[in-house]
Amino acid sequence: MKNQTELLRSLPKVDEAINKLQEEQIAKVAKNLLLKAVRKCIDTERDNILKGESKSVPSEEDWNERFKKTIADITRSNLRRVINGSGVVIHTNLGRSLLASDAVEQIRNCSKGYSNLEFNLEKGVRGSRYALVEELLCDLTGAEAALVVNNNAAAVLLVLDTLAKGKETIVSRGELVEIGGSFRIPEIMEKSGTTLVEVGATNRTHLRDYQNAVTERTALFLKVHTSNFRMVGFTAEVPADQLVALAREKNIKVMEDLGSGCFIDLSQFGLPKEKTVQEVVASEVDVVTFSGDKLLGGPQAGIILGKEDVISRVKKNQLNRALRIDKLTLASLESTLRWYYDTESAIQNIPTLAMLAEREDSIKKRAKILYDTLRADKDLQCEIAIVPTVSRTGGGAMPEYGLDSWAIQIVAETLSVNQIEHDLRTGDIPVIGRIEQDAYILDMRTVMDGDVSDLSNLLLRYFTEKTV
Ligand SMILES: *Cc1c(COP(=O)(O)O)cnc(C)c1O
Repeated sequence: MKNQTELLRSLPKVDEAINKLQEEQIAKVAKNLLLKAVRKCIDTERDNILKGESKSVPSEEDWNERFKKTIADITRSNLRRVINGSGVVIHTNLGRSLLASDAVEQIRNCSKGYSNLEFNLEKGVRGSRYALVEELLCDLTGAEAALVVNNNAAAVLLVLDTLAKGKETIVSRGELVEIGGSFRIPEIMEKSGTTLVEVGATNRTHLRDYQNAVTERTALFLKVHTSNFRMVGFTAEVPADQLVALAREKNIKVMEDLGSGCFIDLSQFGLPKEKTVQEVVASEVDVVTFSGDKLLGGPQAGIILGKEDVISRVKKNQLNRALRIDKLTLASLESTLRWYYDTESAIQNIPTLAMLAEREDSIKKRAKILYDTLRADKDLQCEIAIVPTVSRTGGGAMPEYGLDSWAIQIVAETLSVNQIEHDLRTGDIPVIGRIEQDAYILDMRTVMDGDVSDLSNLLLRYFTEKTV
């Protein structure tokens, strides 16, 4: 056994360790990051020696292992792929919509090299980034004009700022909603400088309520989709076309914040009927806004459709420059939109829609593949079963509606369900599951075909060796 001084003297020299790691090309990382990793390992060992916890000199292999592990920890991306076993299809915390593979390819094409983002190739002069998707959006929805910004919150702010700043906006009390904690209609209205005039009661608002509230300062009627909750029972709201008729008489504009915004009537797949974007456009409102990454299944974006005169004013607003969409979003949005020329292609190729429309038997098949792989290992230290469960749409769409699905249920004698949930969530590839009636549940609707083999490897490793 060596004494403390000898142990301290035997610690590797930082420079030498780095040179060696670089020679061996252990990791392709910035030199200062390598330095940070090496220092961290050596500092930890020094602390252990001083605390008397380390009593022998680690071998060269030991050190190499430690360096490699720390480099891997330090260089691991903070934003990572996770496996979604929660059964929530449009999960805001897990990145909402998954992009179609051609949309991903377009991002690659337009980001590795230059692109014609704001360059008109025909004329050889400066072009508009908005023109890249405007025709597609108008074609698909029947709108006169279109504009896309960073997200739907930005879209709402921008339109309010353009049409109603310094004036009054009338909203039904039943539609003053809060979405996902940080987006609240009354607050975003205040930010935009418009005065909120609330009308009606929480459960019922009539056309006469809007009528009676109109003053000389009224600029806008705003309708908001109550995305994340549903009112049932004795309720009444004013349909957009009636509001439009009243607004035309009084020279007021009408805006609808549709929230999720879908181009396809999903009731044909057994889902509840949500108002489509085309229906809102057809009701002749002046402007409608919705998200790109909720039911539409594209990248994060805020899509603004409307009458030519309104959209042209919105485009000229200086605030638009601060909220503008980037080229990666435009690249993937354009690809996503092209699938919508027919419903069948959209459902097959846009992952969010495919997941929502996937039939139960097909989900069960995926569950069975995972189940069989796990079962085949005789060292497996847990009980597994295929059980029925209920998935959710998420993303503020169809809040009360559950989609029948199948899950893998896991119970282990030696591990608490909370422990399992924690360990799988914090592993190499994080797995997000649910706890239901004291069992760990992985809803196979949101576990993609491409996830299954990684997931079975992770589960086998965990439930046979207990280290993820
Ligand atoms: C989700 C939602 C928003 C916010 O959209 P983001 O794209 O998340 O900015 C605004 N309004 C409604 C009604 C929504 O459902």
